[in-house]
Amino acid sequence: MRTEYRFTCALRHGLHARPASMLAEVARRFAAEVKLSKDASDGPPAEPADARSVLSVVGLNIEHGDRCVLKATGADAGAAIAALKEFVETQLAEGDELPAPSPGETAAAVGGKLPVGLRRAGVAHVSGRAVCAGIAMGEAVTIGGMTLPESARTARAVSVEAELEAAHRAVASVRHDLRRRAAQTGARLESDLLRAHGEIADDPALWAQIERHVRSGATAAQAVAAAAERFSEQLSSAGSAYIRDRVVDVQDVCMQLLDRLTGGGITAMHVKLARESIVFAETLTANQLLHLDRELLKGLVLGRIGATAHTVILARSLRIPTLIEVPEAARLTKGGGGGQAVVDGDGGFVITSVTPAVQRYYQREQRTRQKWLDKMAPLARRPAVTRDGARLEVGANASSAAEIAAAVAQGADGVGLFRTEVLFLERTAPPGEDEQLEIYAAAIDAAEGRPVIIRTFDIGGDKPAPYLHMAREENPFLGIRGLRLYERHPALLRTQLRAIVRASARGGGGGGGVKVMAPMVATPAEAAWFRGQVRQVQDELRGEGGAFDEAMPIGIMIEIPAAALVMDQLCDHADFFSLGTNDLCQYWMAVDRGNTGVAGLYNPRQPSFLRLLRTIVQGAKARGKWVGVCGEMAGERRNLALMLGLGVDEISVAPGDVLGLKTAVQAAEASRCRALVEAAAACRTTHEVEDLLANTPLRPAEGVGGGGRGGGIIDAEAIQVGCDALTKEEAIKDAVDLLFLVGRTERPREVEEAVWAREETYSTGLGFGFAVPHCKTDAVATPTLAVLKLHSPVEWGSMDGQPVQVVLLLAVPAAGGGAGGGGGGGAHMKVFAKLARRLMHEEFRERMMAASDAPAIEACLRQELELG
Ligand code: PEP
Ligand code: MG
Repeated sequence: MRTEYRFTCALRHGLHARPASMLAEVARRFAAEVKLSKDASDGPPAEPADARSVLSVVGLNIEHGDRCVLKATGADAGAAIAALKEFVETQLAEGDELPAPSPGETAAAVGGKLPVGLRRAGVAHVSGRAVCAGIAMGEAVTIGGMTLPESARTARAVSVEAELEAAHRAVASVRHDLRRRAAQTGARLESDLLRAHGEIADDPALWAQIERHVRSGATAAQAVAAAAERFSEQLSSAGSAYIRDRVVDVQDVCMQLLDRLTGGGITAMHVKLARESIVFAETLTANQLLHLDRELLKGLVLGRIGATAHTVILARSLRIPTLIEVPEAARLTKGGGGGQAVVDGDGGFVITSVTPAVQRYYQREQRTRQKWLDKMAPLARRPAVTRDGARLEVGANASSAAEIAAAVAQGADGVGLFRTEVLFLERTAPPGEDEQLEIYAAAIDAAEGRPVIIRTFDIGGDKPAPYLHMAREENPFLGIRGLRLYERHPALLRTQLRAIVRASARGGGGGGGVKVMAPMVATPAEAAWFRGQVRQVQDELRGEGGAFDEAMPIGIMIEIPAAALVMDQLCDHADFFSLGTNDLCQYWMAVDRGNTGVAGLYNPRQPSFLRLLRTIVQGAKARGKWVGVCGEMAGERRNLALMLGLGVDEISVAPGDVLGLKTAVQAAEASRCRALVEAAAACRTTHEVEDLLANTPLRPAEGVGGGGRGGGIIDAEAIQVGCDALTKEEAIKDAVDLLFLVGRTERPREVEEAVWAREETYSTGLGFGFAVPHCKTDAVATPTLAVLKLHSPVEWGSMDGQPVQVVLLLAVPAAGGGAGGGGGGGAHMKVFAKLARRLMHEEFRERMMAASDAPAIEACLRQELELG
């Protein structure tokens, strides 16, 4: 019988972990020793790998088209080779299937466009999906990898036998767990992956490494960490990206081993930030995030994590610019970090090579933002009432007094959701009554008389609390979570309710007080039970002579579809409702909110979901109850029309979104939105709904942006003298930012693109130190001229070779123009032609050059262009 078999690797992605684990499984059926190597006939002989070791096989870096040889020795060598040949020829190809990219991944791949100014400076970037807007710069810090907790790093081995025994136990436990999960999951790819992880845990090469390190004096944990590092290094140098990706698999398995060996030490271990940082990680738990210094954490770049995972929600509430679905997130920083990085949460990309051009670009960006905030500040103090008189309070989701203070500064009308579980997660024992009282009191004080809805702890799901020793559940989101935990931990609930009820004495009353709300209510019986618990605590405190607000409203979250259909009955037990659309959508669509594989379905603009929301709001309104929305959908600007149309009383959003939404409410007309909800609910797809939303303006056409106004082509505030731009790119950005600041565009980056599209075909430097960049774009609502007088002239590629000192940027709507603008294309051409003609006159040029402030420039332009 033959004991050798040669074949050519036909797998498109090479011999990566899944086919390697299938091969190893066949090899292990035999006593014979089986070695696999790359056929060395045309090169130096390669070190053969043990075919039973997935890690060794993957480490061979066998790629498509490589010739391979399997050799067996031992009693059943012939049978082993026959079986392996049969396997390679008939089944190996099945292992080549790789998961299709999720809709999110596809979006990430095409999204994240670099602003034209940076593109022209040749800046490299990596795209992701932006889930929290804003810009952050800081030191790049990578979290993940195999760093051991201090205690495990410095521990001494008990004895070789004891450490080997401990390592054995850990391997057996991880293997058992992975196999069980692989057998239970219905998804084939997932079960294959878990099985492949099980193979890694079982891998002879991994074990050999662990044993070697233990025999040379390491503890079991130190040995696992060292072995993980060695395999990670080996796989990282593979030519195939798919094989390089297996580093994550090895690290994943070794993390599980280490967690068992350190008694949860890995999960409990947290990175300390030393200075302002951008954290890069493949995944990050809410707990890990909470342990990072909030002062120093400026941005997050994450890999596989869902947009409404609690980590992301927390990041949003902390206003940390965040990207998710960033390919290779944990490997973007060279050597684990150290350099500077910029997260652009508006553009959806990260820059890890921060050049002076990048720095200057973002300094300008920050300056513009600050000006916008200063300008909007007076609007923050006005009520959130639409032009046609509908009120939609804009509250904030928060979990600390500091966040509330930030939200109040932005004009928040209250706190629609104070997430208290955050207080319970970061620790080894729950907070006591007085400690909680202090926190709630601080939150109430920070709200300065505005209402604060305190939600009782929502532990469970993706937010476990270690000290509750909750049993491991197959589907924690469908298990003991939120209110369902309360009956099991009555003392915990009672302590919290005592703290909340006592804190209610501090609230303003008369609508400005404390409200309490329960999460995850499915039935009227649960709502009644919760109300009873609050009443019991109130009775108790009354008996003790304690002060509290007797009228404190008691509400529930609507986040389980079952509750949505019994609103009439729930109204008997709840004073108000808040729609937790994150969970409601997850349970309605049967999609895990953190699973990127089903992210395409997890969309609150599903027409059926809109019908559900409509039913809920109508049910509550029929009994005159107050309804808020505190899920993430409320914070998305494009959903504002739906919120207004549904007729909810409040939206509660991340503090950083408050001001933008409040000013948008002030500029909107609610009457347009009611019909829109009906039309959206009649759509058949999310795309149809999204098109509808994109094409239905919330306000009359004459103005855009919070505080945007109509008016003519010239706005004195769009004239800047003494601009410090040093390049043409910077000058164009500054001019476009002026349009943004005067409310003529909400999408300055699109305007900039449009300007450059023309600029790249011919220079708009008309000579004599003047440039007239211009564009037609949907991103402006009315024709506007922005004027810059530069501090120092910049090179523009002008016809006469002169640098430019005066920039007159003209932007007009692509089609028609706004009511106040006097037409689009025609007006554009007329003004442009007039400007060009005027610039030929020395007198006009001299007058413009001599004008030393905005009013003088405005007067000159009005007169010379006959704008009145
Ligand atoms: C929700 O489910 O929409 C909600 C606000 O609660 P959480 O995100 O904390 O589960
Ligand atoms: Mg929820």
